[in-house]
Formats: sequence, structure tokens, C-alpha cells
Amino acid sequence: MSSESVLFDYTRQDASGASCTAHAWAKVPPALPADEKAAVKARIKSLLVSQNAVLVAHYYVDGDLQDLALETGGCVSDSLEMARFGRDHAAQTLIVAGVKFMGESAKILSPEKRVLMPDLDATCSLDLGCEADDFAKFCDVHPDRKVVVYANTSAAVKARADWMVTSSCALAIVSHLKAQGEKVLWAPDRHLGRYIQQQTGADMLMWNGACIVHDEFKGLELDLLKAQYPGAKVLVHPESPESVVAQADVVGSTSQLLKAVVELDAPVFIVATDNGILHRMRQLAPTKTLIEAPTAGNSATCKSCAHCPWMAMNALQGVLSCLEAGTGEIQVDEATRVQAHGCIDRMLDFVARNPSATAKPAQGFVPNVGAA
Ligand code: SF4
Repeated sequence: MSSESVLFDYTRQDASGASCTAHAWAKVPPALPADEKAAVKARIKSLLVSQNAVLVAHYYVDGDLQDLALETGGCVSDSLEMARFGRDHAAQTLIVAGVKFMGESAKILSPEKRVLMPDLDATCSLDLGCEADDFAKFCDVHPDRKVVVYANTSAAVKARADWMVTSSCALAIVSHLKAQGEKVLWAPDRHLGRYIQQQTGADMLMWNGACIVHDEFKGLELDLLKAQYPGAKVLVHPESPESVVAQADVVGSTSQLLKAVVELDAPVFIVATDNGILHRMRQLAPTKTLIEAPTAGNSATCKSCAHCPWMAMNALQGVLSCLEAGTGEIQVDEATRVQAHGCIDRMLDFVARNPSATAKPAQGFVPNVGAA
């Protein structure tokens, strides 16, 4: 494996010393009282219909938003399915509950649609740690490599890439490139890149990014937890460190981990990904016991609670604001959009031609799509 140290400070601080994650946590809307919540949900449902809009939510956002998406004919899914669903749905307005790169991907694929987000400041440490100008310089000095970027990047970074991948299809696409004799320049998640390199044996040059949530899972503490639950299956997202991935029974995307909870014949699961996914796992596998994989506690780099501060910024209040006031509209300039479209389209086309490349739902069971 090739690697270069491309350092960044993902806990960026402002002039007062507050980190970007502190800013994110400060913007998380307060929980609504039950009666107010019911009224807001009813108002959103009415506006979704009158504005021909649909709610597309990620597994990591608040459970109320996930439920609302499913109740109103939207979807709850990983970033690959969010992109496909938004593109293929007839609604003219997409409300994307997730982080900014997801809204940008929706806009890139559906330029004729209005794409709104509950809070445009909801971003991702992988996106923050891979600025377009720095990335372009990195690519410029390695013109012999195919540029493969993870979905968690800005539109400008995607515009520089040959391929976009998600964690659902990254293995299959890098394997495909290796079979064609290509060398890969990979960005931005170093853990996912290392996992794919180990699985495929591809020649990969890595950007040095990380997810602040998955980076906090700890191998030693996981080992101790497994000893307490000897029959438990360990489910790990590959953005996690190598010492955590090494102990997994299943390594996969959010959809693949969800599928494992439903299908595997085990009563207890230890889950190493953002704990927002437990809401959907509990709905789909109510008899299973789910335990969060251990992080380092409050002294760690971020709040270390296995929950993404930027995903937590998504709330019912923000969705209502989108629909009532048109706030949070995603804009991508046309030249960037056209360039970025190529790498996303290439991935979607590959997945369509190679359906076994991504997780399939269990038979008779659709994990992420709502009624209607
Ligand atoms: S959980 Fe990690 S990868 Fe996902 S949006 Fe948050 S920081 Fe980014």
C-alpha cells in the first residue's frame, strides 16, 4: 500500500478556541414536547403534499425524522440509496435530512429539483478534511492513478474524481479497477481505504482523513466487551480503526449492517457505527439485543458518544423551516455539477450493471422505503 501524510485539523477551531464540533452541538435543536411534536409533524405532512416534496433521511438522523420519512412515502437509507431515491422520485422538492454532501449529491443528480436541508451547516469531518484545492494538487502530482473518492466529499472534490463510491460498493469498484490494471488514488477516509486495500490488494495511495465518530471506537475496550457477551455478533462499519474491524463478524455499510441484524441467527449484536442506526435496527429486529461498541469517553477528541454532531443538527424544526420558508437550499454551480456528475453516474451505472456489488435486502423485506 502506498500512503502519504496529508494532515488536517478536523477539530478546527474558531478565534475563541471553540471546535467545529462544539459549534455543531450548540446548533442541535432542543427536543420538542409531545404535543408540539405532533403538531409540527402534522404540519410537515401537509406541506410535503402541497409542495410535492419528499423527505429523504439517513439512518444516523433523529428517529422522529426517520419515522416521518417512512410515514410519508420517503426513504431512510444509506447515502447510495438516498442518491438513487431522490433522483428517481417524482417529487419536485427533495428534503434531505443528513449532511451537506448528501444534499449536494442529490442536487448533482437532480438539477431540476429544489433540494433543501434542515441545516446547511451540517457537514462531515471527511468533507472538512479534504479541501478541493489541496486535493487537486494531490491529484496533479499523481496523474497515473484513477481518482476514487468516497461519497463524503464536496461537489468540488467529486468534480476532480474519476469515480465516486459509497461503503456499499467501494470494494466491488476498487476490485474492478484493479482487474483492469489501474492504480488508485483514494480519498478521504484512511480507515475505509486501508480496509479496501487489504481486501482487494489494489495499489492505493491514501488521503489521510477520518470520521470523527468511527475513529473513536476502541479495539481494546471492544475486546473486553466481547468477553462479557461471548455469543454476540460484532458489526463494524469500515470507517472504524483496524483494531475494531479485526474483531468484526460483519464489516459493511449501514445497509449491510442492518441486513445482518435482521438475518443473522444471534440474539445479541455489538454495533460499531453511529448509534442513530439503532432506531431502525430496533424497529426491524425488535427481539434482538443491541449494544453500542465502546468509544473512549468524554476526554476523547470529539464528544465521543458514537453519534455524529452534524447528523444531530437535523430535526423536525429544520424540516418545517425548509417547507415554510424555503430555507436551506443547496446550490451547486453548474460547471462543478456537470463535472461531479460523471463520477457519481459512473458508480450508479456500475451498481446497476453489477447488482451483487451492493447489499440486498432480506427476502420479502424492504428496509428503507416508506409506504406509498
Ligand atoms: S458520522 Fe462521520 S462520516 Fe458520517 S457524516 Fe458524521 S463525521 Fe461524516
